[in-house]
Amino acid sequence: MSLVIIGTGLAGYNLAREWRKLNPDAPLVILTRDDGRNYSKPMLSTGYTKGKTADQLAMQTAAQMAEQLKADIRTQVSVTAIDPVAKTVTVDGETVAYDKLVLAQGADPFQPPMGGDGLDRVLTVNDLEDYARFQAAATGKKHVIVIGGGLIGSEYANDLSNGGYAVQLVEPVGRVLPALLPPVASEAVGAALAGLGVTFHFGVSVQAVHQDGEGVRATLSDGREIQGDLVLSAIGLRPRVALAKDAGLAVNRGIVVNRELQTSHPDIYALGDCAEVEGLVLPYVLPLMAGARALAKTLSGQPTAVVYPAMPVQVKTPVCPVVVSPVAPGVAGAWTVDAQDGPNVRASFRNGDGQLLGFALTGSFAGDAALKAQLAKEVPAMLA
Ligand SMILES: Cc1cc2nc3c(=O)[nH]c(=O)nc-3n(C[C@H](O)[C@H](O)[C@H](O)COP(=O)(O)OP(=O)(O)OC[C@H]3O[C@@H](n4cnc5c(N)ncnc54)[C@H](O)[C@@H]3O)c2cc1C
Repeated sequence: MSLVIIGTGLAGYNLAREWRKLNPDAPLVILTRDDGRNYSKPMLSTGYTKGKTADQLAMQTAAQMAEQLKADIRTQVSVTAIDPVAKTVTVDGETVAYDKLVLAQGADPFQPPMGGDGLDRVLTVNDLEDYARFQAAATGKKHVIVIGGGLIGSEYANDLSNGGYAVQLVEPVGRVLPALLPPVASEAVGAALAGLGVTFHFGVSVQAVHQDGEGVRATLSDGREIQGDLVLSAIGLRPRVALAKDAGLAVNRGIVVNRELQTSHPDIYALGDCAEVEGLVLPYVLPLMAGARALAKTLSGQPTAVVYPAMPVQVKTPVCPVVVSPVAPGVAGAWTVDAQDGPNVRASFRNGDGQLLGFALTGSFAGDAALKAQLAKEVPAMLA
């Protein structure tokens, strides 16, 4: 059985590792449009705090990974089409055949609709190459405008502040981490970031970015203008579904897969940020690792449903650490604050029967491993 994987992110490489353990000699081809270096994407938002360049974050080259995985890894190539009937993919005009195909294509940063002539100074950081580009653009600069106060925007605000940058953060909702935390916990994180020097512009969006000498001028939706040297946009990700959609596979928010991570075509699977597993798009490391373990078995002849226990997410804002077991939008219930002492907040989300469905811990509570483990055990599994 020959396996072809598209993508060398954490999803592609974790699957390759798990599958290789069960298939020591079978042919494995991995195709990627980046340079195939193995790195841990969560480290991208702690790079300034830890003083790391992109090269220092890369753990292995594509050649080292090819040797370790006994794989044919083709880098800087783009897969442009899938033919599910012929069981081939088109790679820069060439055809590569597969028995089983796994899409581990990740997600694209969402680009906010903005006008202005300074959009080339609006950067996103979603892979190692973006990170190198951002570091180069930010070298010698001082003022960064961050668009978005979600997980990635808040992490970058903390990291850039640690790196000596003056950060202005624009977030349409009136607080940081609005989709993850109850207001009291958001306020704790916001106050801690403000203490580092972050300036917030809440309740507004960026309408336009104009060049302003060497820097930028951003027009906010309330008409105000703010200045900076460059802009980092972090307003969310969209699963890469175009290739799957063009091949006739079912797509929704992500590439639609069942519990065995199988798409609407039996020989094609999807994993990681691009996949929607039984309606869940979970762009985090733990779900893709659980998926990689299950999928390796399925692809080795032991059909295995993925299991998602409660998987608390750590937000890397060291000035006020956060651990959150998020609640899906629309779930009935309410947050209560169980304890609060300055930046230290412990909150729980319960339904009408008192069942714990999610929790949020900030400050010292986030560092209490026993508390986190106990709460995580109480929260029902996402996919049992
Ligand atoms: C700054 C940041 C911090 C994060 N922090 C955390 C954290 O603390 N904890 C956590 O759990 N999660 C975190 N995440 C999320 C986590 O890193 C991602 O969920 C995970 O890395 C996604 O891996 P992936 O392999 O699915 O996608 P990616 O890493 O995006 O990989 C996609 C791959 O597909 C390839 N590809 C795509 N299309 C094609 C094509 N047509 N042809 C060829 N190749 C193609 C790309 O080249 C790439 O190799 C963070 C994310 C970011 C951006």
